[in-house]
Amino acid sequence: MSRWAWAEVDLGAIEHNVRELRASVAPSELWAVVKADAYGHGAVPVAAAALRAGAAGLCVALVQEGVALRQGGIDAPVLVLSEQPREELPAAVVHGLICTVYSHAQVDALATAVVAAGRTGQPVHLKVDTGMRRVGAEPADAVAVADAIRAAGPVLHLAGVFTHLPVADEPDDPFTADQLRRFDAVLDGLAAAGHRPPVVHAANSAGLLAHPGARRSLARAGIAIYGISPGPGVDQLSAGLQPALSLRARVSHVKQVRAGERISYGLRHTFVADTTVATLPIGYADGVPRRLSSVGGEVLVGGRRRPIVGVVTMDQLMVDVGDAPVAIGDEAVLIGAQGDGAITAAEWAERLGTIGYEIVCGISQRVERRYT
Ligand SMILES: *Cc1c(COP(=O)(O)O)cnc(C)c1O
Repeated sequence: MSRWAWAEVDLGAIEHNVRELRASVAPSELWAVVKADAYGHGAVPVAAAALRAGAAGLCVALVQEGVALRQGGIDAPVLVLSEQPREELPAAVVHGLICTVYSHAQVDALATAVVAAGRTGQPVHLKVDTGMRRVGAEPADAVAVADAIRAAGPVLHLAGVFTHLPVADEPDDPFTADQLRRFDAVLDGLAAAGHRPPVVHAANSAGLLAHPGARRSLARAGIAIYGISPGPGVDQLSAGLQPALSLRARVSHVKQVRAGERISYGLRHTFVADTTVATLPIGYADGVPRRLSSVGGEVLVGGRRRPIVGVVTMDQLMVDVGDAPVAIGDEAVLIGAQGDGAITAAEWAERLGTIGYEIVCGISQRVERRYT
């Protein structure tokens, strides 16, 4: 493919980040979270890179994401992080995915799917809600769900217990320590009822970076393996990570405009001086937010920051390149480095009032990923 807009994914950076994170959590394992097509980076190539660098397993949000890994030749352990529609469970079983459960209904549905597939010993992880209030068993119900898993033995096997941390990226917030205490109480209660699952986990990227007490058997690292900080509170702890993704386009059109002329839909930008405008064939359908120009969004052209002018359109955007020479075919960088300049997903996120996660996940399928 030769479209003049693409994302470059540096698999060497993924490997570097996994090695760094692995070293910081050892002897705990590092599992790479590759849900949402590896946060827009491409699930199969990223999973393979993470495994090469020593990740012990992978996490996904959906059964179909786990199936895609298997179809891509990945045979490492894969954990599906939440309960799934019962229609999806047969595929999870057949493809050897570890399933998360937190309700009696899912325990029953999964046991049925395992029996129907003629299998046994399906590993499950019990997710406990210690404060995120999204999904998971209530702490008071954890033993009852574990008992139900045991009652479904040998069809099901309680291989792990985990929880999730909503404010680990704010290291000073005592809530994370409170959660870990609640989690330990749940583990004690499970042990008292005879449940000693071999694998226990709690940490996401921010948890593993900022809360050593959250590193149990394994840490589930998502955003950090892509070289993006989980949040400003842990920027320093993320400083050694390398961003893996850059977003690039080639100049498709160049023109001179005069002071007083206006540009793009709504004609909302008026040029104050004569200047040169370069058009890039990438727009909001590719994941460049329409309002990036109105919040000061810039692009690197010729190694220098240049402002996006006028609203970003669906397929194209315009850049004021001043008096610098620019030609059709020149490479421009929307996210990444060029010359001495660098623009990060975090910078976009800050301008747009969101997080780096949303920026990289928002780069659409229309943008080809090229691997280096
Ligand atoms: C997405 C997710 C993660 C990864 O979070 P990061 O902040 O990207 O490291 C870990 N655990 C669960 C349950 C998740 O949903």
